[in-house]
Amino acid sequence: MKTIQATIDRNEPNPYVMGKAARIIRAGGLVAFPTETVYGLGADALNAEAVMKIYAAKGRPSDNPLILHVSGVSQAASLVEMNDTARKLAFKFWPGPLTLVLPAKPIIPPITRGGLITAAVRMPNNTPALELIHASRTPLAAPSANISGRPSPTDAESVFHDMAGKIDMILDAGTTGIGIESTVIDVTNPFRVLLLRPGGLPREVIEDAIGMRLEAPDSDSAKRSPGTRYRHYSPSIPVMIWRKGDKFPGDETCGYMGVDEPDGLCCGGKIMFTSYEDYARGLFAGFRKFEADGFSRVIVQWPENDSGICGGLRDRIKRSASE
Ligand code: AMP
Ligand code: MG
Repeated sequence: MKTIQATIDRNEPNPYVMGKAARIIRAGGLVAFPTETVYGLGADALNAEAVMKIYAAKGRPSDNPLILHVSGVSQAASLVEMNDTARKLAFKFWPGPLTLVLPAKPIIPPITRGGLITAAVRMPNNTPALELIHASRTPLAAPSANISGRPSPTDAESVFHDMAGKIDMILDAGTTGIGIESTVIDVTNPFRVLLLRPGGLPREVIEDAIGMRLEAPDSDSAKRSPGTRYRHYSPSIPVMIWRKGDKFPGDETCGYMGVDEPDGLCCGGKIMFTSYEDYARGLFAGFRKFEADGFSRVIVQWPENDSGICGGLRDRIKRSASE
C-alpha cells in the first residue's frame, strides 16, 4: 500500500486534504493524525473491520482496548454511560489530555474495547484531529501511531518510519505539544475513581477538581487496562535510569537525556532539556534519535519529583526501561 503524506497547517488545515482523509476513514481505512499528546493512528471506531486493521498495522495485542476520540461531550455520551463525575471532568478538561473509562454502550464493537464492557473516550485538543472527527462523522479509535512497544511518535517522520506501507495516510502538522499520552482514569464508580495511566494531565489537578484522591487500580482493575501490562515505549537499544547524585553509568557509546548535566565526560551524545515539560515533549524523539545514531544504550534522568508532568514522565521512563 502507498502511504499518502500530507503536510497541513496545525491551526487551519487544508479542507481538501481533510476531506480526503475523512473519505479514507469512512471507507474503512487508516489515517495517522496529530493530537496534542502524540500522533494517533485513526480508524472509524464503529467499524470493526477498520479497527482490526489498527491492531494489525501496530502488531498490537487484540485485548488492549483503544481510546475513542470524540469532538465533544455529547458525542461521548452517545458511546458510553456518562455519570455526573465524568460529565464534570469532561466539561472541565476537554478538549485535553484526559481519557475517561466508562461503561460502554452496545454501539461500540467489542474489538474497539478489547472485549471489555467499558470503553475509553477522549476529546483531543488539536484542530486537525477535531476536524477529522467532524468530517468523518464518526468517533475515531486511535492508539499511538507506532509499532506496538516502540516509542510513541511525536512527529510525522516517526509515524512514517513505523507505518509506511501499512496505512493509507499521514497528516503532518509538525511536532506534538505535550509529547506523552493522555492520563487515563476509570470513572465507572464515581465514588472510587482509579488512575489507570498517568499522563498529560497531572493527577493532582484531577484530584482538585473532584475533591477526592485518585486510587491505584487493584490487580483486578489493572487487568481492565491491559495496555499497562506490556513493556512499552522502548527503542531497540536498552534504556537505563540515572538518578541525580548517583554515579553516572555511561561511556562514549551511550546517549544521555535529562534536565541536569551529569559530571565529567559521560557519554557520546547528549540531549539537554530546559524543563520537565520540555523533557516530556522530547523523550520519545530522543529515544528514536539515539537508536538511529547507533548508540549502544540510552541513559535517562529520573525526574526528582512526581508532580505536574513528572507523574506521566516517570511512568513512561519506568516502562521504557523495564525488561
Ligand atoms: P494507547 O492507545 O496506546 O494510548 O493506550 C490506551 C490506554 O487506555 C491503554 O493503556 C489501554 O489499556 C487503556 N484503555 C483503553 N480502553 C480501556 C478500558 N475500557 N478499560 C481500561 N483501560 C482502557
Ligand atoms: Mg501507545
